Amino acid sequence: MMTIDSTTKAFFRDQLYAWAEANLRPLPWKNEPDPYLIWLSEIILQQTRVEQGAPYYEKFKSRFPTVHDLARAPEDEVLKLWQGLGYYSRARNLHQTAQYIVREHGGNFPVTYEQIRALKGVGSYTAAAIASFAFQMPYAVLDGNVSRVLSRFFGIATPIDSQSGKQLFQELATQLLDQRSPGKFNQRIMDFGATHCMPKQPRCGNCPMQSQCVAFATQQTQNLPVKHKKLKKTTRHFHYLILQCQEETIIRKRTGEDIWRHLFEFPLVEFSAAGATFQEIQTKASSLQAILQPDNLVRAQLAGSAKQQLTHQTILASFWELEIRQIEPELLPADLICINWKNLDKFAFPRIIDWYLKDNSLNLFSQLQVN
Ligand code: SF4
Repeated sequence: MMTIDSTTKAFFRDQLYAWAEANLRPLPWKNEPDPYLIWLSEIILQQTRVEQGAPYYEKFKSRFPTVHDLARAPEDEVLKLWQGLGYYSRARNLHQTAQYIVREHGGNFPVTYEQIRALKGVGSYTAAAIASFAFQMPYAVLDGNVSRVLSRFFGIATPIDSQSGKQLFQELATQLLDQRSPGKFNQRIMDFGATHCMPKQPRCGNCPMQSQCVAFATQQTQNLPVKHKKLKKTTRHFHYLILQCQEETIIRKRTGEDIWRHLFEFPLVEFSAAGATFQEIQTKASSLQAILQPDNLVRAQLAGSAKQQLTHQTILASFWELEIRQIEPELLPADLICINWKNLDKFAFPRIIDWYLKDNSLNLFSQLQVN
């Protein structure tokens, strides 16, 4: 184990606090004492930039001011409010955890680190953040920002995403933690990593840590931190079939272990390669065979395409608009829902479909002025 001497600890804390005095980030959840709202903000901010997450935090806080309000809301409403944030398992966990807190803790947020850590969707980082911000418990947060700062300041090349790296950086963060104000310390080191010791262009020129920063002294700032895993990325080709029959269309809820679980979408045909023809798509759309018979299909056109980049996947979507003579609901498989086009805004869709729906120059229904 690497031990930090008391002089270095004092230097690090003093410089960090002095920096924070002049560089406070006025975030809506800063200094929030309510553990429920802290938890809400932390779940929203997982894998989300602060600027993107802030309006969602305000929306959730206003619609669900207490854990009881969130617990009693229908899941579809929670997902709808979450729409556009991505990583929808976070929203489902948020909702289920609110119900768990009401059921098992009478609506009182758990007060021990172990209880907080046991909540669904709460890892050691989030648990330390809630415990230190809400209850001033001495748990050091370790996220990507903190790991980067420590890796550079101490000049450590152990991969931050390896098991040994996580353990090492957690120990260092714990040693540096200001035991008297753990919440304040955690906030500030995260802010410092996010806005000063940034991944690509750290502001070493005017950094208060510079005189003791090993990465700066050895010109290693661009090489640190080291990451182990290179994510394997895949490209998926989605073809959405947007059926229009008078004012009606068909959607389905996504199920199974895949992206966007429990969100809604138009009937989807997926290919692993680009260039599928409409005939190939039609053949593969087995659940719609009864509807897509030649005498029922008036016309089909490719309305547009869009790309959405997820962490591990690139989604390339094509939107096919199909004008249909009639939809007989009894011929539809159970997972397909026939709805009026005007009701689409009641459902939560992935961002890529939302993009299609909002572009009135594209969709057939708006051209027909049904919407
Ligand atoms: S000197 Fe540069 S690398 Fe070192 S802590 Fe400051 S900003 Fe980060």
